[in-house]
Amino acid sequence: MARIQAIRGMNDVLPEQTPVWRYLEDTARALFEQYGVEEIRMPIVEQTELFKRSIGEVTDIVEKEMYTFEDRNGDSLTLRPEGTAGCVRAGEEHGLLFNQVRRLWYTGPMFRHERPQKGRYRQFHQIGLECFGFNGPDIDAELIILTARLWQKLGLSEHVELQLNSIGSAAARQAYKNALVDYLSQYKDQLDEDSQRRLDTNPLRILDSKDPKTQEILVKAPEFSDYLDDESKEHFAGLCQYLDRAGIAYVVNPRLVRGLDYYGKTVFEWVTTSLGAQGTVCAGGRYDGLVEQLGGRSTPAVGFAMGVERLILMLETLDLVPASLHDRADFYICALGEGSSLYAFEVAELLRDLPQDVRVVTHCGGGGFKAQMKKADKSTATFALLLGEDEIQQRTVTVKPLRSDQAQKTLPLDDFIKSVPQML
Ligand code: ATP
Ligand code: MG
Repeated sequence: MARIQAIRGMNDVLPEQTPVWRYLEDTARALFEQYGVEEIRMPIVEQTELFKRSIGEVTDIVEKEMYTFEDRNGDSLTLRPEGTAGCVRAGEEHGLLFNQVRRLWYTGPMFRHERPQKGRYRQFHQIGLECFGFNGPDIDAELIILTARLWQKLGLSEHVELQLNSIGSAAARQAYKNALVDYLSQYKDQLDEDSQRRLDTNPLRILDSKDPKTQEILVKAPEFSDYLDDESKEHFAGLCQYLDRAGIAYVVNPRLVRGLDYYGKTVFEWVTTSLGAQGTVCAGGRYDGLVEQLGGRSTPAVGFAMGVERLILMLETLDLVPASLHDRADFYICALGEGSSLYAFEVAELLRDLPQDVRVVTHCGGGGFKAQMKKADKSTATFALLLGEDEIQQRTVTVKPLRSDQAQKTLPLDDFIKSVPQML
């Protein structure tokens, strides 16, 4: 029978990769705690309508990337393509948002039917953070300062660049859209197909086009900054002040608009050149209108999402994965001879009883000492424990250092267990 394979663009994370995933997740989690951010977990599936209403009908995601299906009741459901919509939905549903301030984070898989390539998958993972109830640029700054600290912890600071823009109030966006449409209409025939269509439906997204000819035409397009309203200008200046004070470098990119409809005022991306085309590792911005758009009471909001796979690719490409992540064991117990395996289990459990969370791998499945030692070496353990007939009879253990030239030595079991905390 033909073997069934994974779905294209949906990856298994194999045992040799999980340590770096956990390293990234644990680092982010510890950092969120340092900033008073609480974790929220949402379902992976939501009503299709939620994403249509929040992300916008005329976006890449809703037009062509969603995994949408009918469930057995005939309801239209969608595998979440991003986390913000579900986070707002959950926050509203449980009364977490109105008249309060909240800092929430989440992580998990997202689904988009895109063309799979390096850094772009159909199931991918995001770590996201959303803040509700804060109006000022202080919280925008805090989010950016937090991400900068994460890059620092991961050793990525020199490899990412912060791009910032303000896309203003709804009125400013409308005025700019009109100017942009006027300008681009002159070149309509030369725009790529998607952009031609977007001229009527979602002209801002044309700024995002990767088509070279469209890009060329855009060079002389009107700039957003000329249409920015005073309040947004002030907000942006405020944000820049915080960043300057924190010593965080940024590039103002007037073309930065973000792919989703719900953004306004601040938008930002952290971009790297070390991944080729898929260079954005973290993206976010302010979305003050979304909660109301989804039926809640008006609540200012700002957030971002990081692409976990892209960050891991960066860590690997730049050789920034700490080697110690791959250490999985402290002791590997080799046992040979009548009853030695029962003794091995006893020793292993005594080790695991210690308060230090000692990591012990017991050799299972028999075999000679030589074969067992090979496994011990592969296990990444610091020490092998050799248990043969002498050891069983005298209730001793022979400790053999695997990562140094020190000689092996034999100790009474009790003495050995007592000495373990000093050994590790
Ligand atoms: P892109 O322009 O690369 O398609 P996007 O604007 O669609 O990105 P967002 O919706 O802002 O991306 O998602 C936030 C982050 O999630 C991105 O910056 C990226 O790191 C990651 N991401 C988005 N789509 C994918 C994907 N298909 N595979 C892997 N990571 C992704
Ligand atoms: Mg995309």
